[in-house]
Amino acid sequence: MTQCQKCQQQWKWHHVLKRTVKLTPAIICPYCQHEQYWHERTARINQKLLVISFSPALLGIVGFISAEEVFFTTIALGIVSILLSPFYYETSATPTRAAKSWLNK
Ligand SMILES: [Zn+2]
Repeated sequence: MTQCQKCQQQWKWHHVLKRTVKLTPAIICPYCQHEQYWHERTARINQKLLVISFSPALLGIVGFISAEEVFFTTIALGIVSILLSPFYYETSATPTRAAKSWLNK
């Protein structure tokens, strides 16, 4: 589960989920209000889960599964990855390269 880099408190599932929907790179600890960022590993796992979530579309394109199966499987995989996200999200005291470029805009 996600842990604050400053106060070492473990965040609750809903704390993480609430912070994943924010579009700003900086996230605030719910306990000490310290600003931190999502870890590079989190971004890499998110990219892999995005590919997995849309993999049914590839099966649909080549004709292995129907359009309805593509739709519902993609939705189900997306929901599962969102619900599991608080278990693999990690924080970092320093911003990632992507966050740095966002902050410099
Ligand atoms: Zn904290």
